[in-house]
Amino acid sequence: MSRYDYDLITLGAGSGGVAGSRYAASKGVRVAICEDSRVGGTCVIRGCVPKKLFMYGAQFSDAFADAAGYGWTVPEPSFDLAVLAAAKAKETDRLEGIYRKLLADSGVTLIDGRGRLLDAHTVDIGGKRVTAERILIATGGKPAAPAIPGIELALTSNELLDLTERPARLLVLGAGYIAVEFAGIFRGFGSAVTVAYRGDAPLRGFDEDLRRRLATELGNRGVALEAGFAPAGIERVGAEFIVRSADGRELRADAVLNALGRVPNSRGIGLEEAGVEIDAKTGAVVVDGFSRTTLPGVFAVGDVTNRVALTPVAIAEARAFVDTEFGNTPRHIDHSLIASAVFSQPPIGSIGLSEEAAKARGLRVTVFESDFRPMKNTISGRTERSYMKLVVDSTTDKVLGLHMIGTDAGELVQGFAVAITMGATKADFDRTIAVHPTAGEEFVLMRTPRKAG
Ligand code: NDP
Repeated sequence: MSRYDYDLITLGAGSGGVAGSRYAASKGVRVAICEDSRVGGTCVIRGCVPKKLFMYGAQFSDAFADAAGYGWTVPEPSFDLAVLAAAKAKETDRLEGIYRKLLADSGVTLIDGRGRLLDAHTVDIGGKRVTAERILIATGGKPAAPAIPGIELALTSNELLDLTERPARLLVLGAGYIAVEFAGIFRGFGSAVTVAYRGDAPLRGFDEDLRRRLATELGNRGVALEAGFAPAGIERVGAEFIVRSADGRELRADAVLNALGRVPNSRGIGLEEAGVEIDAKTGAVVVDGFSRTTLPGVFAVGDVTNRVALTPVAIAEARAFVDTEFGNTPRHIDHSLIASAVFSQPPIGSIGLSEEAAKARGLRVTVFESDFRPMKNTISGRTERSYMKLVVDSTTDKVLGLHMIGTDAGELVQGFAVAITMGATKADFDRTIAVHPTAGEEFVLMRTPRKAG
């Protein structure tokens, strides 16, 4: 008999926590998981899933507009966010039910309540002490609140997903994933949207050609861009919000979205007190390649570790932890090559190095690109273009980066990610027969490199 109540206690029933707990239970491990909010975490309840449902809702505005070119007469469409919000809530409720059932069916004990680490083997959950041989911290992250006076007046993505009425004017602060995704969504709903960011283009870190094109396409969709806008204060005057920048500019809106990044949920749960190191600057739980914290027996995965804040990464880290600790198969996750999609309008799909990052590493690269108007946009009259780019190592012929902005970019990059993960060369792309007529075929039909300079 073990001297502990469980073999594993997981703090946080989000993507990483649920995946790790279920996988461990499937190996005969006695697992408890605690959660003080809804089961499913950020992705299912207030992130990826509801965001994508909202995105689908917003895309109907394009479909109605494009239909005329294809012979359809559509009466003046109108949109009711309350209807979509209710349908979204119903769907997230359904998914939460599924998550709860999956936990129960796999034999994981779900304990409602906030977990607080007391020592390497003890967690306090709502006043009750529960012990385990190992503890997994999977508490995720939350919207950051930078020290900007009045920042509390801004909504975060959490509240934006619960709105039942669209704001007439939405001001988005920041230009990361969340900023550009919600800008596209609320523009599709019919709001006047402004995106204000301190840099010179959206999506810092992405390939410059994608960033530039996204800015152009956002502009073409009527999203106002305020580059170089470092927010210095938010004020409410009557029903209106006024945001001032450090250089004295002023923007007005009916709602402001704080999309200024996310921070790990690592404070107030006893971690530091128990001996788990937290990075002072980022708030991330410090872990090694095996997700071990500085306190033996305590592990952490997902957004709370601030490695790559994506659901599939949290799940992969959690499964690797289980294989290592309970499956006798120690393994790391490779964080260096991870595909991602940004569900902006148009969307972005990307894997590997940007041209700039490759050059910064001192690599000699050859760039192939394709810039075209998708077939669907020809007779609809939509001017939106798609752009694809391959960054190829001139010495080895290996494809270092694959990038796209345009319809279905997220879907396309998932398939190509397999090839890139396998180390595909440009010659591999060249000998692949195209699927016609598709947009994806462009990736295997690029023959002429872009001229240097
Ligand atoms: P990001 O880190 O992507 O973007 C944060 C934005 O806020 C940047 O534009 C940043 O500017 C700006 N910013 C931060 N602090 C300040 C400040 N004090 N003043 C002015 N501007 C500031 O964060 P998100 O919250 O959008 O997303 C968090 C993470 O969640 C992402 O990195 C991603 O991993 C994940 N995510 C993934 C999605 C997907 O896969 N589709 C969707 C949503 C989130 P600057 O660039 O200049 O630093």
